[in-house]
Amino acid sequence: MECELMVKNAEIVSSQGRQKGHLLVRQGKVFARLAPGPVPEGLQAQEVIDAQGMMVFPGMVDLHVHIGEPGKEEKEDLSTGTRAAAAGGVTTIAIMPNSVPPVHSATSLRDRAGLIHRKSFVDFCMLGGAGGESVDDIVAQAEAGAVGYKSYVGAYRPDRPGLLCKDTADMLKTLEEVAKTDCFVGFHCEDGPTMRLLQERLVAQGRTDFAAYHPSRPEFTESLATLPLLEVARVTGARLYLVHMSSPWAITLASWWREQGTDVTIETCPHYLLFNEKDTERLGPYAQVAPPLRSIATQQALWDLVNDGTLDVIATDHAPGTPAEKKRGQTNIFAGGGGLPALETVWLTLLDAVKRHKTTAENLAWLMAEHPARIARIYPQKGHLEVGADADMILVNPDATTRFDAEKMYTKNKDAAKIFHGMEVGAKLEMVLQRGQVIAKDLEVTREQPLGAQWVKPHPR
Ligand SMILES: [Zn+2]
Repeated sequence: MECELMVKNAEIVSSQGRQKGHLLVRQGKVFARLAPGPVPEGLQAQEVIDAQGMMVFPGMVDLHVHIGEPGKEEKEDLSTGTRAAAAGGVTTIAIMPNSVPPVHSATSLRDRAGLIHRKSFVDFCMLGGAGGESVDDIVAQAEAGAVGYKSYVGAYRPDRPGLLCKDTADMLKTLEEVAKTDCFVGFHCEDGPTMRLLQERLVAQGRTDFAAYHPSRPEFTESLATLPLLEVARVTGARLYLVHMSSPWAITLASWWREQGTDVTIETCPHYLLFNEKDTERLGPYAQVAPPLRSIATQQALWDLVNDGTLDVIATDHAPGTPAEKKRGQTNIFAGGGGLPALETVWLTLLDAVKRHKTTAENLAWLMAEHPARIARIYPQKGHLEVGADADMILVNPDATTRFDAEKMYTKNKDAAKIFHGMEVGAKLEMVLQRGQVIAKDLEVTREQPLGAQWVKPHPR
């Protein structure tokens, strides 16, 4: 028996548990999984990696990544952003469509996929855009290979034609079209008009300080935006995907609709699990995300929703703000923004949380790999390490530690990673493999050139 690679003595983690043994790779795919112990005679592997003492996870499938290219390269370009993904063990990414020009037609989707294919250091799937002006292009984007769409509500971003449902009528037309496809539609759930009122009141009181950020976007602005979507998804049958949810109340409401049969899945992000409003009070724009970081009690409640199966996905919402955005926020928090880079920290910070008994390794394998792959319909190709899957994996040393150094990160705006700089976590990312080839070691990309990124198209449901 011949194969390209054997990862021997591995402890392979899946959503179902951990299994020891040897993993064989042929033509970039998991070809066999052998029981632990002596390797069978006659087995010839061109390369052997000894994973003794290490945990092996499927590479992360991240359904929420912002890379500005084309048009907003100052935030992140494909070279910096996808190197960050490779370094951090995020082996399949879905990039948000709000580039310039945006993606909300079959042509723009194919064009951007071509660009990503040429430049990306990791595999990818495509998100289209839905809402308003793009309503007649929704089905065509699915036919062109989209796994899902992104959209905004409630005049949250009036500057995003084709990606915005400006009212519930727009929402209905959009979700009716989405329901004709097998794709999900992801929505940013924050109610724009209410947030504007609250912000105006704070500003009138002279409040532009760091601590004014959370009361300008309280949890009920998230549930306000979520409720109409749940209803419209219920009546249209569209697959609804709620992105970066931070409010346990809104999440619990959504799970009630799900229990009644509405097809809704719910994403949260590592920053809501790792940090809280005290970090925003301390770091201002360097801990500024939308929705905002919540209270310590909410942070704990989100872990409970991770562990009881209510939350479906952890995605990064990787979005490094520029130095200018962060600087503006120093004097007026409402002028700041831009988000956090998280591709290089997501695995290690959450593995550290496993060590602190916040959740389990199996839950991470489900929320970060298998379930997002299933939602995007790229499972069984991606998201797990059973026979037949792409051999995308990370090798983790759970007994070592790592200290993050923002200066060494690949993300373009290293300054935006301040919240992670100097943080020590209780794990080390020894190796990242894409389709059986090593692409990174200890947070460093080992390839000069991309491997040849694969555009992963969805399987029919
Ligand atoms: Zn986002």
